[in-house]
Amino acid sequence: MFPSIAILIALGMAVFVAMPLLAREAAAGASLPVDVTPLADLKRRRLVVYENLKDLEFEYQAGKLAAQDYQSLKQNYLGEAASLMAASQEAEQLKETDALLEREIAARRALRKNQPPQDYVCPQCGFENPVPVKFCGECGTRITHRQSPT
Ligand SMILES: [Zn+2]
Repeated sequence: MFPSIAILIALGMAVFVAMPLLAREAAAGASLPVDVTPLADLKRRRLVVYENLKDLEFEYQAGKLAAQDYQSLKQNYLGEAASLMAASQEAEQLKETDALLEREIAARRALRKNQPPQDYVCPQCGFENPVPVKFCGECGTRITHRQSPT
């Protein structure tokens, strides 16, 4: 058996052991609103890993685990905790980027509202052409564009 398969089995076992605990916790807090955002889920999974680490430490102290098993399991848990930590940092950053983009879009919309594209407005009929044009799309009047400073 490859070591990586052993690690996967160990992780699978950890999840299997943790699941009933999580289910019991969820049942106990059924009246509370459940936070199901990916970020909250990552945080919850990280807490489970930390719980497992504590259990592992306890079992090792109690002499139920060989030092080698303890070390390799501990490395697994630490690795999982690190990747979960990185994933939630990524999710956090994504959330910030989203908020930033939304603000940017809102700011641009406000700007557009305050400053109508004068260059596209027909001096003859006042029609606001949606794109830069040489002739008004409504009445065909030639539209002279303001010279942009170059
Ligand atoms: Zn026009």
